[in-house]
Amino acid sequence: MKERRFTKTKDLLMNASESKNTMLTFEAAVTTLLNAVNCKLSAEITPLDCCLGRILTEDIHSPLQIPSYHNSAMDGYAVKFADLHCHRLFRVVGHSLAGHPYRQPVPAGCCVRIMTGAELPAGLDTVVMQEDVQLQSDGSIEFKSKVSAGAHVRLAGSEIEKGTLVLSAGQRLGPLHLGLAATLGFARLPVFRKLKVGVLSTGDELVKPGESLSDGQLYDSNRFVLAAMLKRLDLELVDYGWVADDPVQLKTLFQKVAAEADALITSGGVSVGDSDYTKQVLAELGQVDFWKVAIKPGKPFAFGKLNDCWFFGLPGNPVSAIVTLDQLAQPALRKLAGEKVMQRPLFEAVASHTFRKKPGRLDFQRAVVEQGDGRLTVRPVGKDSSGMLTSLIDANCFAVLEAERSDVAAGDLVAVQFFSELLN
Ligand code: AMP
Ligand code: MG
Repeated sequence: MKERRFTKTKDLLMNASESKNTMLTFEAAVTTLLNAVNCKLSAEITPLDCCLGRILTEDIHSPLQIPSYHNSAMDGYAVKFADLHCHRLFRVVGHSLAGHPYRQPVPAGCCVRIMTGAELPAGLDTVVMQEDVQLQSDGSIEFKSKVSAGAHVRLAGSEIEKGTLVLSAGQRLGPLHLGLAATLGFARLPVFRKLKVGVLSTGDELVKPGESLSDGQLYDSNRFVLAAMLKRLDLELVDYGWVADDPVQLKTLFQKVAAEADALITSGGVSVGDSDYTKQVLAELGQVDFWKVAIKPGKPFAFGKLNDCWFFGLPGNPVSAIVTLDQLAQPALRKLAGEKVMQRPLFEAVASHTFRKKPGRLDFQRAVVEQGDGRLTVRPVGKDSSGMLTSLIDANCFAVLEAERSDVAAGDLVAVQFFSELLN
């Protein structure tokens, strides 16, 4: 097979490459990632029932007004408001039901029995609830209480005017967006092709779950967590399995992935250990920089390109791998997939216990947030090793402790970020 040539993309990572020996702040790392990547995916016109989780390629303007006709919000009687001053008893001349409008003229002093959602007959402007009506023995009706003009009428176009921008390019389509598209009559929508993302674990010590462990080995858990997190982003996932700390094998595999996928997520091998060959191999193959990001957990992080394939090298420790995928790679992957990237909200909570913290790095501490008496309270889970996956399982949020901060005392305010759908 012909070996693919890898070219270096100049200036891709200016900020990052300048910081070879310095720590990159979290904000600078995210900004660099987001500035570097762009969505190049083609559009696919997709049936509405296959659009859940997909990302719109273009703005959608309403082809209709909603409601498309004046209709009743109640079961009752439709009248002309001005008639109420001249008549006491009204004759019921017909029925307007949902799907079966009453299209005859309605003479003065007459009304139409109308059901919720049914079209308001021409010339009528007000609906009186059936509870507010006195039925007479001759079939005519009297209105028991004061009626206000235009009551219980949903005017055409009162929710959406024709031509309004209803869905924007870059919107990830959830159930409500699909409902709205259906309301407007769209059977299909233009969405981006799914971003094809590979996942790969590196490390001689790793064993596939189901096989037996020898001394010094451990099961490869990262690939399963990371793949499951990526599935929540509705990407096309390719599992490249596991590769040993061996430069020849790494090179062969990276070349294969670069030819097949839009992005590759690896875990392990990005720090400076004796068997961390990723750096050496990537230096031969593409433009990938190795960052020290001032976050805890997850300091080492690699980012760059192998031909047209984006490369995200996460650290091997499970919590570090998960946090760097969630906090650093996730926004970039969303942008690559075509999504408009939103900043994640932080909430203010009161620390109910002490948080241990050394100044220097932005700390994503695993924590439990609870509804206290009128305000949120937060406590650390009590395990902060980057190797302990259980510390994340016990948590429901990150207590986001600013880089310069030291220990947090009980009673202090702490910024809290609830786990995203990737971790739940
Ligand atoms: P590394 O970043 O390659 O130095 O890996 C750091 C540590 O993370 C290793 O010693 C392992 O204990 C752990 N680790 C690396 N890869 C995995 C994985 N795929 N699943 C679980 N733990 C891992
Ligand atoms: Mg390793």
